[in-house]
Amino acid sequence: MGKVEFNLENVQKCICNTCPVQANSACAKEKQMKVQEMMPKITAGEMALEAEMIPGLYCAKGKTMCEDVDFEKMCQCNECPLWEEYDLSNGEPMGYYCRDGTAK
Ligand code: SF4
Ligand code: SF4
Repeated sequence: MGKVEFNLENVQKCICNTCPVQANSACAKEKQMKVQEMMPKITAGEMALEAEMIPGLYCAKGKTMCEDVDFEKMCQCNECPLWEEYDLSNGEPMGYYCRDGTAK
């Protein structure tokens, strides 16, 4: 278990969905679309929030399952509200959680 909690509040703060690393990933886009469709049910408590559904919050849940991402592009985790909140700049790894796994 990493130090960032996997919960709805943190999913909503995560900015991975606008990250250049995932920008051209059909896999991430498909997940994002599905999650948006399901979000009303999730927020209403009618549906559980599953880690594999979310194309983000990798600092909490670990590496991405999508293979069509581009790690040559720049991670933007340092612009995320959770970066400050969980003091991620003093942890390991420093960003690229979708590639390197959960924040510790
Ligand atoms: S630090 Fe990165 S992986 Fe974690 S919630 Fe923010 S943008 Fe997403
Ligand atoms: S963890 Fe960093 S590199 Fe990966 S999608 Fe989120 S912002 Fe981009």
